[in-house]
Amino acid sequence: MEATVTILPRALRRKSDESPATKFSSAIPENSLARKIDIEKITSAVEMILEAIGEDPKRAGLIDTPQRVARLYQELCYSTGVDASSEISCKFQEETEGLVLVKDIDFTSLCEHHLVPFMGRAHVAYLPSNGVITGLSKIARVVELTARRLQVQERMTEEIADAIVKGIGAQAVCVWVEAEHMCMSMRGIKKPGAKTVTTAFRGLFKEDQQMRTEVLSYLK
Ligand SMILES: [Zn+2]
Repeated sequence: MEATVTILPRALRRKSDESPATKFSSAIPENSLARKIDIEKITSAVEMILEAIGEDPKRAGLIDTPQRVARLYQELCYSTGVDASSEISCKFQEETEGLVLVKDIDFTSLCEHHLVPFMGRAHVAYLPSNGVITGLSKIARVVELTARRLQVQERMTEEIADAIVKGIGAQAVCVWVEAEHMCMSMRGIKKPGAKTVTTAFRGLFKEDQQMRTEVLSYLK
């Protein structure tokens, strides 16, 4: 699913009207910490896993697998240790008090308890403070950065909210994340399709019950 961006003209006063979808790239940025990931170490660890499960790491089908898995982890964990608010490098001053809502931001992250993926969508809404806004793609980049590391969904949701507050000093932030966890779908209780929803609120959305209810009505 592609991300959609909605900007409401006045805070929470009018019905959402969805603008054309925007696509966001998930490529590893040049300046990321990706190069610090120890590819050789992961490669030899995967060789050990293959041996441990009774496979022959030297057989034709597996010969490049350890390297391939190492590159996979490099991609999935490239933002380890990166402050997600650093993505909010551009800020603009606009005459707006309206709600900014970026919906349906797809992400894939890695559960830190099982090292298997969880994937889903994030919706991020904020009320600017003194008209300070950021590029809409930056919101999606914040989601991307918080996802590309070992995570639990609850913490990821809080990290997105904190990054928006830190990045632009928004007076209210609401983050809604829904995801399917492979550790629930493919093992353990084996419930494919089960969705986990987590939310985080900052500022006015945390303090004011009515505003929180209203913003949630736009997200569902
Ligand atoms: Zn898990």
